[in-house]
Amino acid sequence: MRFNELKKQDIRYVKGVGERKSAFFNKLNIYSLYDLLNFFPFRYEDRTKLKKINQIHTDEWQSIYGTVLGYDYFKAFGRKRVLKIFVGDDTGHISLICYNRNFLKNILKKEMKVFISSNKFTNKYNELQTSDFDYEIIDSDESETDHIHTKRIVPIYHSTENLSGRFIRTLVFRELKHVISDIKDIIPNHIKKKYKLQDFNKCLYKLHFPADLNEVDVVRRRLAFDRFFFLELILALHKKQITLKEKKQKYDNEVQYNKLLKQLPFSLTDDQNHVLKEILFDLKNNIPMNRLLMGDVGSGKTVVALLAALLGIDNDLQVAFMAPTEILATQHYNNIKNLLLNFNIEVTLLVGKQKVKEKQETLKKIKSGDSHIIVGTHALIEEQVVFHNLGLIIIDEQHRFGVMQRARMHLKADNPDVLVMTATPIPRTLSLTVYGDLDISMIKELPPGRKPIRTLWYKENHLDEVYQFLREEMKKKHQIYVVYPLVKESEKMDLKDAETMYINFCHHIFKDFNIGLIHGQMKKEEKSNIMDDFRNGKLDLLVSTTVIEVGVDVANASVMVIEHAERFGIAQLHQLRGRIGRGDISSTCILITGYKLTQEGRERMKSMVKYNDGFKLAEIDLRLRGPGEIMGTKQTGLPDLKPANLLEDQKILETARKEAFDLIDQDPQLTENTDLKEYLKNESYEGLDLINVS
Ligand code: ADP
Ligand code: MG
Repeated sequence: MRFNELKKQDIRYVKGVGERKSAFFNKLNIYSLYDLLNFFPFRYEDRTKLKKINQIHTDEWQSIYGTVLGYDYFKAFGRKRVLKIFVGDDTGHISLICYNRNFLKNILKKEMKVFISSNKFTNKYNELQTSDFDYEIIDSDESETDHIHTKRIVPIYHSTENLSGRFIRTLVFRELKHVISDIKDIIPNHIKKKYKLQDFNKCLYKLHFPADLNEVDVVRRRLAFDRFFFLELILALHKKQITLKEKKQKYDNEVQYNKLLKQLPFSLTDDQNHVLKEILFDLKNNIPMNRLLMGDVGSGKTVVALLAALLGIDNDLQVAFMAPTEILATQHYNNIKNLLLNFNIEVTLLVGKQKVKEKQETLKKIKSGDSHIIVGTHALIEEQVVFHNLGLIIIDEQHRFGVMQRARMHLKADNPDVLVMTATPIPRTLSLTVYGDLDISMIKELPPGRKPIRTLWYKENHLDEVYQFLREEMKKKHQIYVVYPLVKESEKMDLKDAETMYINFCHHIFKDFNIGLIHGQMKKEEKSNIMDDFRNGKLDLLVSTTVIEVGVDVANASVMVIEHAERFGIAQLHQLRGRIGRGDISSTCILITGYKLTQEGRERMKSMVKYNDGFKLAEIDLRLRGPGEIMGTKQTGLPDLKPANLLEDQKILETARKEAFDLIDQDPQLTENTDLKEYLKNESYEGLDLINVS
């Protein structure tokens, strides 16, 4: 049996669980027997030390073996009667104080042989007592009794009010014993040998019930290897499928590409040149490009993408340029149009809220091939959008799109070249998983002349000082963004909102200046008018929500104020901060928070103040929140990787990845590894139909 076949066994039908308890298990994210056996202890207790009763100390875990002598009740202060059970051996006796555990008198019966483990023995009222203990009843012969709770290293599980740790432990033990010897190890033998991997089932068993604490990490790493290996196999399969396809599009002509390169108002940085080379190599290759371009905000990814686009157009291909928001799509559209003024290239914008007639026209132009570059939002993946000859797809700010959307865009063309760009740098471990099917290019340096952004963190009682600073900046004709977490006033949350503060700024706080307001609920035209006014300097200050988070580029804006900054994650704060520091003026980012911050919130603010480097911040973010939160597990389709840990197990991940990719190179359809193939069919990687190997 393959381990993940246990996914089919509903936890409800596991013996001793049933309807009521299964609901509690579901709350722990346990739905199947597979989930239960993947529910690992968060720590262990060493209860192996066996003592005679007269040798007990009162400060560490010890177990005793004895006979139940009988029971009694006593009255604790104002409480009900409390059960007390006596257990003795040939050196003395102890009292088990059973607060709220009256039922124990029916379990620990007179004459029974029992093991008792506790780390809280005390000498009280002239006897040795413990009220915090675990027990095990010995049937007749100790050698035939399973030690689960006593006289062993005992796993401690996260329990809940309705599921005791003892119950979970008993269940895991029994079910493990039941299935463990049937579970097949499906890691290919040559890999097991190479890395001296122990058998899977032994490791699974030992991670729950180790014989020795020293082996815990060894077996955990073995299981981590499996998790990574399977994930990377899926990614390798996906990648292989793409590379097995021949593409039709060629990129031989480069007239307009060269023209743009010559007339750029700046020269490319070394990093930009380098990634451009990588992209050109992919395009000219006969298998489709599937590349991720990573680069911190403001590092100049767009121009690189545009150059690639021109190469496509030089070769009679259409290019789609997808951005996550209307503001951003519109901005790209305008920028591209400006840069291509003296080119004979048709740039088209397609966003959701266009007038029907306008949209019909646009769709027609796309279908006929009159449009060359089509810039748009996810409106581009709507069914009605039909391309004439789409060859290259550029997706900006990938993290805003689901993996699914990437896949759907793929279907608009015949083996297209795909370039995805993200300004949310992610640590290497994450990129090897979430983007593990993509080749990665990286721009590390910012264009020359950028001044570092100064970041300050104020508590809200310093607002007057902040506002005074803003006035001085506006007098110097520097422009400002002020960001709020809400558009409108909310009854539920005691937070400032953009609309109220806009009115407040206009009429009171900054009444001598020109203030604008922008948020996601405004009409498209309104939004683009406001952005134009801001860009043209008609507005001194723009009150906003996170609609300006990605990509917005106004070089003269040099101050970013974020109120209720604790409401935002690191990635978001860094993105927002990336809106400034784009010109040659010194820029300042001001984070304003309340007093009551969580420990994590405080760390977030401190990290923002300390670091400007997006990669460094991404690593901190990963540590503070975990990978699921960062990427949105749903969105990435990243499966549960427990007991692997993306932070600590990077080496294992890299090894597993190498082996997985090597294996798929040799056996692209897994025809020689049928167990692996069957196993992968049972794995879910949401949003992507990765495994359609026949
Ligand atoms: P991002 O990587 O965040 O998308 P952009 O492509 O928006 O960055 O670039 C930010 C700004 O830097 C733009 O105004 C762009 O014109 C400018 N820029 C890009 N490359 C260079 C360069 N090599 N030298 C100077 N400015 C550049
Ligand atoms: Mg950008």
